[in-house]
Amino acid sequence: MNIIFMGPPGAGKGTQAERIVQQFNIPHISTGDAFRAAMSQETALGLEAKKYVNQGLLVPDEITIGIVNERLKQNDCAEGFLLDGFPRTISQADALATILAQDGKQISFVINLKVNRNLLLDRLTGRRICKSCGATFHLVFNPTTVPGVCDKCSGELYQRADDTVEKVGTRLDEYEKWTSPLLEYYSAKGTLKEVNGELEIEVVTKQIDEILRGPAE
Ligand code: ADP
Ligand code: AMP
Repeated sequence: MNIIFMGPPGAGKGTQAERIVQQFNIPHISTGDAFRAAMSQETALGLEAKKYVNQGLLVPDEITIGIVNERLKQNDCAEGFLLDGFPRTISQADALATILAQDGKQISFVINLKVNRNLLLDRLTGRRICKSCGATFHLVFNPTTVPGVCDKCSGELYQRADDTVEKVGTRLDEYEKWTSPLLEYYSAKGTLKEVNGELEIEVVTKQIDEILRGPAE
């Protein structure tokens, strides 16, 4: 099953992806995670990506498409994958379709997590991520048992540099300008499924699960 999670920054894509990939045993491919890993290792890619990521701007298409192209060639993607945060532009979506078509594949589902813009600021500024395992939490909406300590691996939590009030505005504007047209793009292809991302985390997971598994007999 080849899945795309769409939705604005803070919609819950990463949170739901962590849960869904366990159930379907497919890799979670997050371009944002890939850029952050390259940035922390200070690779050439990381230094280039940093110019855009830290301003809340999209990284240029050719760089981003190259990363996904390489990642999708790996063996663990043979039986399916979950893309989180890619594609974010029409050019990226066209490139993805071409990459998949070369292997006779296509996208099975595009899940759009719908969340009102006024909820996103609180979600993003309160987001905390584990330095060790990458798990996502929230100070209020999904707190850890011990503040600052990951529930899953006891790692230390940190706040993303782009999860500040100033950067969030730019990121949401980038989403509206470049990414929201993809909803029409995938709707026209018949692969788009809308999910209410404002509900509780478990409820959202259940809705996605039902879409991916199809209606119960
Ligand atoms: P995205 O990957 O779409 O940017 P995340 O999954 O990182 O979004 O979620 C953003 C923040 O909102 C995180 O702190 C997460 O814990 C929290 N969150 C995710 N889903 C929900 C939800 N359904 N209700 C409340 N908070 C949520
Ligand atoms: P995310 O973790 O998905 O919120 O992404 C964090 C940042 O990485 C974004 O604000 C962009 O700067 C960059 N990024 C992630 N995915 C893409 C993409 N598909 N295209 C361009 N930039 C991206």
